[in-house]
Amino acid sequence: MDHFIYQDGQLFAEDVPVAEIAAAVGTPFYVYSTATLVRHFRLFDEALAWGPHLVCYAMKAASNQAILKTLAAEGAGMDVVSGGEYARAKAAGVPGDRIVFSGVGKTRDEIRMVLEGGIRQLNVESEPEMRAISEVASSMGLTAPITVRVNPDVDAKTHAKIATGKSENKFGIPIARAGEVYAEAAALPGLKVIGIDVHIGSQLTQLEPFEQAYKKVADLTEALRADGHDISRLDLGGGLGIPYARSNEAPPLPMDYGALVQRTVGHLGCEIEIEPGRLIVGNAGLLVSDIIYVKNGEGRDFLILDAAMNDLIRPAMYEAHHEIVPVKEATAGAELTPYDIVGPVCESGDTFAKGRLMPPLQTGDLVAFRSAGAYGAVMASEYNTRPLIPEVLVHGDQFAVIRARPTFDEIINRDTIPEWL
Ligand SMILES: *Cc1c(COP(=O)(O)O)cnc(C)c1O
Repeated sequence: MDHFIYQDGQLFAEDVPVAEIAAAVGTPFYVYSTATLVRHFRLFDEALAWGPHLVCYAMKAASNQAILKTLAAEGAGMDVVSGGEYARAKAAGVPGDRIVFSGVGKTRDEIRMVLEGGIRQLNVESEPEMRAISEVASSMGLTAPITVRVNPDVDAKTHAKIATGKSENKFGIPIARAGEVYAEAAALPGLKVIGIDVHIGSQLTQLEPFEQAYKKVADLTEALRADGHDISRLDLGGGLGIPYARSNEAPPLPMDYGALVQRTVGHLGCEIEIEPGRLIVGNAGLLVSDIIYVKNGEGRDFLILDAAMNDLIRPAMYEAHHEIVPVKEATAGAELTPYDIVGPVCESGDTFAKGRLMPPLQTGDLVAFRSAGAYGAVMASEYNTRPLIPEVLVHGDQFAVIRARPTFDEIINRDTIPEWL
């Protein structure tokens, strides 16, 4: 559920007409709903209320300071995957003991940075990385709290580019080798093993892969405890999917996911961490665009938008489907015609949808991409020297620009000219 609904024939973001925001900030732009963000965070928090837990928002999905502050105020922790994200979380006021550091290639500088600033735990992805953490922590006279990310070799049944839990993926260590790796962790200086980490992929639309993975984690917890390791925390990753197409079968609800977690690992008495990103922010954001031209081609018609693949890469990168709706509500019974919906970038990949059935639309009409909050603004680029588009946050009847559109000069002046030119 989100807070982008039609009222009196036009699309609203909470209590603000989307068209009013467009008039104020210009198109294209991203707009997020505070109420939706908070609602989704609370669904997870409540789903795990049966025991000690921390919901660590995977901030790579959308990392604007205002979004982080909104969630942190609700009690969210943060899952970060780079030194930059760690700095962002800290800048938003999140204390180190609520920040988890994930990611396959943590550099020594990043490790030093988070140990200095304080960290809840580092999720170790490989033995070389574990040794690096041990060395850096020892050299600083500190002890790094760690979990080891295990790869449970389950099929997440999601897009290949966002599946992470099969043995051929680059993530984690094979679960069969966990015993040796934990033994080495216990022997290394500067490390304190506190638990196990697993994350099998993103946009999962079924619970069954989670169930398989978490059962393996439960067995591993018992085996590691029998070997004398103190396993008191389980980080179960993120990955719960969202409905991108209204026609699709609805993905599982956080409440059912929480019940599955309780059923599979609840008996172990561990503190539970989860790292949802997409489900918290995905449906909390729209990308709003203007129609520059309606072009009638040979056998197909095009809607040419002022948003492009550099603003929202998901369709080009993951063949992702986004619902695209008119900001002015179509009249009941309006005739639908197929359009290819494209951006102005000089690549055929700059196509958002092919043959999409749309109501009558004209140059100057606004359209909104639904479910664009996650992996939207954060993956944008300035390809074609198209400025990064503004982000706007709505709260009830208020809205604020939370990242402004840069001017052309600001973009150009980031380049520096060598003295010989
Ligand atoms: C990307 C990622 C997540 C979040 O995945 P979502 O599908 O957005 O919930 C969580 N944990 C790790 C380690 C990740 O890489």
